Parts: sequence; C-alpha cells; structure tokens
Amino acid sequence: MALGSDVVAQLRDTIARFVDERLIPAEKRVEEEDRVPPEIVAEMKRLGLFGLTVPQDYGGLGLSMEEEVLVAFEFSRAAPAFRSIFGTTIGIGSQGIVIDGTPEQKEKYLPRIASGELICSFALTEPEAGSDAASLKTRARRDGDHYVIDGTKRFITNAPVAGLFTVMARTDPENKGAGGVSAFIVERDTPGITIGKIDKKMGQKGSMTADVIFENCRVPAANIIGGREGMGFKTAMKVLDRGRIGIAASCVALAERLIAEAVTYARERKQFGKKIGEFQLVQAMLADSRAECYAGRAMVLDAARRRDAGEDIRVLASCCKLFCSEMVGRVADRTVQVFGGAGYMAEYPAERLYRDARLFRIYEGTSQIQQLVIGRAMVEGD
Ligand SMILES: Cc1cc2nc3c(=O)[nH]c(=O)nc-3n(C[C@H](O)[C@H](O)[C@H](O)COP(=O)(O)OP(=O)(O)OC[C@H]3O[C@@H](n4cnc5c(N)ncnc54)[C@H](O)[C@@H]3O)c2cc1C
Repeated sequence: MALGSDVVAQLRDTIARFVDERLIPAEKRVEEEDRVPPEIVAEMKRLGLFGLTVPQDYGGLGLSMEEEVLVAFEFSRAAPAFRSIFGTTIGIGSQGIVIDGTPEQKEKYLPRIASGELICSFALTEPEAGSDAASLKTRARRDGDHYVIDGTKRFITNAPVAGLFTVMARTDPENKGAGGVSAFIVERDTPGITIGKIDKKMGQKGSMTADVIFENCRVPAANIIGGREGMGFKTAMKVLDRGRIGIAASCVALAERLIAEAVTYARERKQFGKKIGEFQLVQAMLADSRAECYAGRAMVLDAARRRDAGEDIRVLASCCKLFCSEMVGRVADRTVQVFGGAGYMAEYPAERLYRDARLFRIYEGTSQIQQLVIGRAMVEGD
C-alpha cells in the first residue's frame, strides 16, 4: 500500500461521512439542477479528492490501485455524477500525464490537477469513431514548434467545465490505425476550441458531456504526451485499463447502495399482513444481488492488487468492467422490482439509480468490446 492501512482507513471513514451527510442528501438537487453544486465541488477539493491518484511528488496522495478502489467503494455509493467530476479528472482525464508524461509535463500540470484547479477531460471518441477508437480522424499536423489540431470529439465528460483535455489525434495520416495516433495535453483557453451544447442524457444528471470541436487549434509540440509521436493510442489504452478497474469499483459501490435501499424497503413495506422481506421470493432477489456484488468486489480487489504488483492486468480489467457493469444493471433492476410500483416513481432513489447504472455498460468500452478483449486474448493465447 502506498499510504499505509491506518491512513487509508481514516480516509475511507472521512469519505463515508461525506457521502452520507453531504452527497446522498444532495442527490435530488443534483438531478433537478443537472449540475453538482459548486460548494460541493469546493468541499471535494478541500478533502483532497482531486489529488487521490496524483503522485505525492506532485502534491497528491499517490494512492495505489488497491487503495483507490477501497476509496471508490465508499465514494461511489453516492450518485455517479459526484464521482464523474473528480473521478474523470484524476482518472482518464489526467492519467495519460501520470503514466506516460515527461518530467516537465508532470511538473507543469499535476500540482494544478491535485489541487483541483484544473478539471480534466479525456477526448478519444468521435462522431464516427466510438468502439473503433483507433480509426479516429482528428488530425494533428506539425507546424514548426506547434501541432495544429482539427477535428470533433463526441460525448466528452466534463468538457463544459474542463481546464485541460487529453486529446488523441492522428499525427501520421499515412497510418490509419493505432500507430498513427498521438496524445496531446491541450489547455482549454487555447484558441480554436469550441464546446458544443451540453448533451441531454438518460441518467447521471449533473455529470456533463458535450462535443469538443478543434479548428486550427495550435498546441505547443512540447505538449505531446511522452514527447514522441505515435504512442498516443497505447497511452489511451493504458489509461483505459486502469479506468476500467475504477469503473468496476464504482459499479460495486453503487450495487451495495442499491442493495441497502432494497433491504430497507423490504424490512418496512407490508403486504398480505407481512413485511415483504419475509417472502422468500423477495429474499431470492436480495440474495442474488448480494452474491453477485460480493463476487464483483472480490474480483476488483484482486485485479487492483495484481496491478500494484506489476502484473499485466489488461484482460482482468476487462473482466472487471464487463462483470461489474452488467452486475450493477441486474442489481438495479431487482431493486426496482423489490420496490414494486414505488420503484418506478421518481420519489424513490431506485428509479434514478437504475437510469444512472445503465451508462456503466457503455462508456470506457461497451460490454461487447470487453468481451472481444477477453475472448481474443484467450484464443490468441495472450
Ligand atoms: C455519458 C457518456 C460519457 C462519455 N464520456 C466519454 C469521455 O469522457 N471521453 C471519450 O472519449 N468518450 C466518452 N464517451 C464515449 C463512449 O466511450 C462511447 O460511447 C463508447 O465507447 C461506445 O462508442 P459508440 O457510442 O460510438 O458506440 P458504437 O461503437 O457505435 O457501438 C454501437 C453498438 O455496437 C457494438 N459494437 C461496436 N463494435 C463492435 C464489435 N466489433 N463487435 C461487437 N459489437 C460491436 C457496441 O458494443 C454497441 O452495442 C462517453 C459516452 C457517454 C454516453
């Protein structure tokens, strides 16, 4: 462990209190206003959440993967929109710099990320390049000591509030595959960036996505991550492997919250003169959810520990993302069922969390893409 178990236990306690006392009570407001209140973002900064994964040398806590998932198990009991703002920043938004950045890039940006000054976004997806991300068309053309970026990125989380984008763009037009892609650090106030209108989504209200349009956007050549062309897709995949374990941990936490909501309701609601929790068919739904959630928690911890030990966890990360995102979907569905008609009503959290959970099977690689990663590795003996 990077911090030590006592410190991590304290951090988890603090976050658990923050979730119970501040975040869960604010969920309805976030849903209605479709934004996380600025005072809550300020509290997240004070708690040091924007520095969880930034190395200690750059002002963060430098959590190990295991410590990060333990924290996520607490934090992500709250609606996913809260996690989205800092989790995207310290996850996919900035991990390219942490993992592959040059010392100068780390020095320049990581302290400002750790303090919460810079909200970050990860810009890979395009209108015609989603699952097939390696076919991206956004172009970065070298011009003296700059690159000129042109193209459109789609569904970019945090884009309307981001101060920094990790942008994957094609530097080699002759190479139409992954090898032609480079990753860039692009500051929001660089001329030539337009943010599209905020997308209206099914769930996760309060987390914002939008298009990011680059037109003749001149970025210093020093901002190519790692200082070399052609490495950007590899960087993006390393970031996503790590991100997938983080998403899986969030799915486990949300499933635990959904189970707790279902159990509370089953203990109170009466039908046929009994609490519905006494009916074995209701217990079966609770039991299936509990067992699946436990399996998810165990696999996430195992993958995180293996990553910390230096093992190649690419396939395990996909296993975690696939199982846990599908698992939380089933748990959310059963929770709505336990609530009966009330589960369909916006007054109760089950309805909202059911919609929130749906996204986990789509972003950072759909379930089908995770299946392809796992299946291909099995057949090809990777
Ligand atoms: C709310 C939200 C936030 C997001 N945030 C970000 C972000 O911050 N940064 C970013 O870069 N992207 C982001 N995304 C984009 C997200 O990662 C993509 O939507 C996702 O990867 C799927 O791409 P797509 O939407 O183009 O679907 P498509 O790739 O068009 O897929 C459509 C369907 O076809 C299936 N499919 C595609 N190819 C195959 C295949 N080879 N075999 C089997 N099935 C296949 C898919 O599984 C899916 O079911 C976000 C998306 C959403 C909805």
